[in-house]
Amino acid sequence: MSEALANLLNETRQFPPPAELAANANVTAGAYDEAAGDRLAFWERQADRLAWAQKWDQVLDWSNAPFAKWFVGGQLNVAYNCLDRHVEAGRGDKVAIHWEGEPGDTRTLTYADLHELTCRAANALTDLGVVAGDRVAIYLPMIPEAAVAMLACARIGATHSVVFGGFSADALTNRIQDASAKVVITADGGYRRGKPSALKPTVDEAVANCPTIEHVLVVRRTGEDVAWSAKDHWWHETVESASAEHAAQPFDAEHPLFILYTSGTTARPKGILHTTGGYLTQAAYTAHAVFDLKPESDVYWCTADIGWVTGHSYIVYGPLANGATQVMYEGTPDTPHKGRFWEIVDKYRVTILYTAPTLIRTMMKWGEDIPAGFDMSSLRLLGSVGEPINPEAWMWYRQHVGRGELPIVDTWWQTETGAIMISPLPGVTETKPGSAMTPLPGVVADVVDDQGRSVPNGGGGYLVLREPWPSMLRTVWGDDNRFLETYWSRFGAGAGNTGGDQWIYFAGDGAKKDDDGHIWLLGRVDDVMLVSGHNISTTEVESALVSHPSVAEAAVVGATDPTTGQAIVAFAIPRGTADISGEAGEQLIAELRNHVAKTLGPIAKPRQIMLVPELPKTRSGKIMRRLLRDVAENRSLGDVTTLQDSSVMELISSGMQGGK
Ligand code: ATP
Ligand code: MG
Repeated sequence: MSEALANLLNETRQFPPPAELAANANVTAGAYDEAAGDRLAFWERQADRLAWAQKWDQVLDWSNAPFAKWFVGGQLNVAYNCLDRHVEAGRGDKVAIHWEGEPGDTRTLTYADLHELTCRAANALTDLGVVAGDRVAIYLPMIPEAAVAMLACARIGATHSVVFGGFSADALTNRIQDASAKVVITADGGYRRGKPSALKPTVDEAVANCPTIEHVLVVRRTGEDVAWSAKDHWWHETVESASAEHAAQPFDAEHPLFILYTSGTTARPKGILHTTGGYLTQAAYTAHAVFDLKPESDVYWCTADIGWVTGHSYIVYGPLANGATQVMYEGTPDTPHKGRFWEIVDKYRVTILYTAPTLIRTMMKWGEDIPAGFDMSSLRLLGSVGEPINPEAWMWYRQHVGRGELPIVDTWWQTETGAIMISPLPGVTETKPGSAMTPLPGVVADVVDDQGRSVPNGGGGYLVLREPWPSMLRTVWGDDNRFLETYWSRFGAGAGNTGGDQWIYFAGDGAKKDDDGHIWLLGRVDDVMLVSGHNISTTEVESALVSHPSVAEAAVVGATDPTTGQAIVAFAIPRGTADISGEAGEQLIAELRNHVAKTLGPIAKPRQIMLVPELPKTRSGKIMRRLLRDVAENRSLGDVTTLQDSSVMELISSGMQGGK
């Protein structure tokens, strides 16, 4: 990339935090100065929020950079921190999880319940021969046993590898083989879209090709018939009859806690390795700081699946380390009706909601009448994660979910970062719709040009992290070279003698700094378009499209073009109310092209816009632009295995041939 990303979108709206939230916030503006003064001492104070069996001797060992060690010599048990210490402090009766099954069945688990189940599961795993350092694959629906399984592994020092329950047998096989897992924890199935969706047959298929698997532990959720083999054990027989007594042993701060494969939006998934002390420190601190989590009074709900890093850090480890009460929901947002999420907010009096832009844009498509039908007056804070949130989606979220007054924290982070890195602090930051704003206290992020030089305010380039952070990935499982090449070889010391002597982490995302120095994420570097010599961000063109009242969601790609190098091709989902039949559709397309040109400048005017009913998304809900690029350039489609619904691509391709 020869030139910094064009900096087109100009958003001027800004919203200060509500006075009451600011006055009572867990974290105030002083935290930034505190961390800037002595970053390592700051992280030590956050680590002190946890219970350590053995205190560390050194905060950070960076002598073998970029392989980091945090809290060297320290020892702790993650499950003890998430469960036992709350029970020991007399908070055992407090609700940990309000669980809502898709069919409407519910379970309430207190901290004492969760502790007891986790102890039993830890004993059961030990009886099956699992010891510290072994890998355990977890392939479960969104049921409380998913959290219990993770915590039980953590409790005995087994490294878990959670595989999203929607993945195929091949994806599961690859992940089990890559980690040489010894046990799989699964269920007969779960409920999706109003009916049972089987999991066990997929596991059977995978296990047939995975000789390392010795045992399969099966939770009964749907009660459907399943095939049974000598390796299989029912959870309700094995775990529920195991002893409820289990003393948690402390593990080294650098003991491997989990492997999680990235979602595969751009390439073959990487097994990201996270360890114990630093990870829990930052997951716990960020849940406390970014969500202003008050364990006494909040009801927190993160709508992610446990199969993604968001489910790891902000359903299991962060909230539980803080002793929070949360909601966990098994199913889809439109079962049995499109107001299900808002009904859950209403029913449990949810105060903090953390969800994804894809969900918000879907709700925009369905229309604001749906949230308006529920009492959501309990909400006090909203969060977003997973993709850049378009300013209009942000405004819709604030308006129709947040009563036009709630703060929104747009949180940038990755599987690799383990915890939130760039985000507003809800009691401090004057937010701007569409901006993740500033690095959190203790995090040093920057936007740099091709040469790794910090760009001035108003400039665009690559997002990087200049200093190590406690919850950073430690390596790519079994592949140190891929770790070095992917993240540390673009800039700084890892790039050899051109890069200087600092190790600089390359996040793979484009970003800009606005005139105030606030950070705007512009999408993945791989997705940036080069049009007539200008780098144009997909995110900015998409946001311009979404700012038109007839568009709910948009995806933009650069397609090879004989005159301009690349030309902008856009795919837009109309809002429910828009008329797109025949002539009206043609008219809307013309109007949208002009709207983008007017909003961003003529350079950004799409060559082509297609109105589509859906976009190709990964199972974590992210738009897969590389497939749209294949369509726009008339190529056969690349790897579609991580796609949520492959029929979407047929719809889009056939529409494309019809020409527009
Ligand atoms: P892969 O790395 O395998 O292609 P992935 O990057 O989709 O998959 P994740 O780690 O789940 O896997 O996603 C992290 C990415 O999601 C970030 O690098 C960024 O592109 C995007 N992202 C997450 N949160 C935000 C946010 N608040 N704003 C903008 N982008 C975000
Ligand atoms: Mg990624």
